[in-house]
Amino acid sequence: MCFNTTQAQTIDSANCLAPEAVKYLRIAIHYILPSSPRTHFVHDLCATPAYKYRYHGWGNFTETHDGFGDTSWNGYAHADHIVRLANQALSQNQPQWRKEPGVSYPDTPPAIPFRYLLTGVYFHRNDTFFDTNPFNMAPIHRKLDVGGNEVIDVYCVSYRPEKGLNNIPDGISFGGSGLGGPVKAVALNDYNLYQRPQCREWSRQNTASSMIHEIGHALSLQHTWSGPDDCNDTPEGFLYDLYKDGNCFKNQRANCWKYDPSIKGCPRAPCDDWSKVSNNYMDYNQQFPRAFTVCQLDKIQRDLSGPGSSYIHSCNGCAPARAFFHLESPVMICPKQPSVLLDAQASVHETRYQIDIEDIQNKAKTWHSGWIKGEADKMYLSEYYKFRPNRQYRIRLTVDSDTCAGIHVFEQVIQTMKCQPVPPPGEISLAAFIATRGVLTSRFYLPDSGHVHLQIIHQTSGDIVELLQNEPFSAGPHELTFNIPLLSAGRYRLRAIFQEQVFETEFEKN
Ligand SMILES: [Zn+2]
Repeated sequence: MCFNTTQAQTIDSANCLAPEAVKYLRIAIHYILPSSPRTHFVHDLCATPAYKYRYHGWGNFTETHDGFGDTSWNGYAHADHIVRLANQALSQNQPQWRKEPGVSYPDTPPAIPFRYLLTGVYFHRNDTFFDTNPFNMAPIHRKLDVGGNEVIDVYCVSYRPEKGLNNIPDGISFGGSGLGGPVKAVALNDYNLYQRPQCREWSRQNTASSMIHEIGHALSLQHTWSGPDDCNDTPEGFLYDLYKDGNCFKNQRANCWKYDPSIKGCPRAPCDDWSKVSNNYMDYNQQFPRAFTVCQLDKIQRDLSGPGSSYIHSCNGCAPARAFFHLESPVMICPKQPSVLLDAQASVHETRYQIDIEDIQNKAKTWHSGWIKGEADKMYLSEYYKFRPNRQYRIRLTVDSDTCAGIHVFEQVIQTMKCQPVPPPGEISLAAFIATRGVLTSRFYLPDSGHVHLQIIHQTSGDIVELLQNEPFSAGPHELTFNIPLLSAGRYRLRAIFQEQVFETEFEKN
């Protein structure tokens, strides 16, 4: 996929740096994925009682689904959603609960002068990156960085304690030179919580909140509870006595993420009184939305006038439209059935849009929708254009906003394929497609959960290559990709064995 941007906008920097101007900071969301599906145990601590289950899937959000096969919630939709949640919270700053004696606080909390602008969503498949813990993301960021010091890179990772590191935070901020440096990037251990079914709803809010906390560090804020943070309106945590493994550690700083009298002290407990509970963004806590204080916002303002100024895209309520969509490829073209479903729900801020369809083999056959008012949503493109099987099409979405200058374009090339009949109950549908450079995409739909054996067979020699040996899968759609660059050219069959039945489809490798 590629991005093309046409920006007809110059930032009025004097106006933009005014303290009250609402500044849109560019952020890109990256998902770190493994190169093939993973199986591991997930401990759902949000359930009562907590339980473990065996997860099989991509371990993170993909272009098409949520890593469980739920196509209604893909990586674009997730990115759009957490940015919206974060912006909602930033638009309603709360009064600071814990107050420092002798300091005066405004009656209404100060307005937060920044929001996030989603400028890109990226998917990276790399086993080493996937297994790296969030503390060691800086070298990976140097490889995956988009937009240099103009876009805050947010890496959504999926790191579990079983990979060897205990006490993994929900997120971490890693700048080029510590807090508030010119390099601004953060990692969020988002999927680790999402994959626990009973944590899921909460995890979305928590990710938005963690993102504000981590970007807070990138904008030069420190934790409030643990030592000086150069702000007199953010009191440190109460002193308490930590009881751990039979020992008493005196005079620790409390960081109460909720009211919880059951946490032991010896004798002073950390969170047994509401006056000890913090709702500040730069503490660890469960409140949402939360508070930034006057002093913290002044520090952010200073950062955004200095090293952070290059991250400002625009200001004063002007959020330019950004185009994103998802389209399955390869896509089956069946007579009298709607197909080529373009899902543009993840596009943001547009008030009008247009779609272009171009037949790559026959460029004369193009279609332009012209400008359509409103927000781009889900639409079957086959209702507007007659697609043929076994061809490539370039699909382009252009979005524009009435209130903000600059159009934005997102495009994807799709491959169409011949219609295959829908499987009767108890059977599976199976499709195989070779994309560029020897990557085999296999798609199948299971009526029930069960074990799948996948192999490819050379049509003439009968040679067999094993792809999957009885791997467990849930019911529903699955898409797997395999690297087979060494396979010689020719015709092959992809064979799936499911519930002792054999299903086959043919494909060709050039
Ligand atoms: Zn922190």
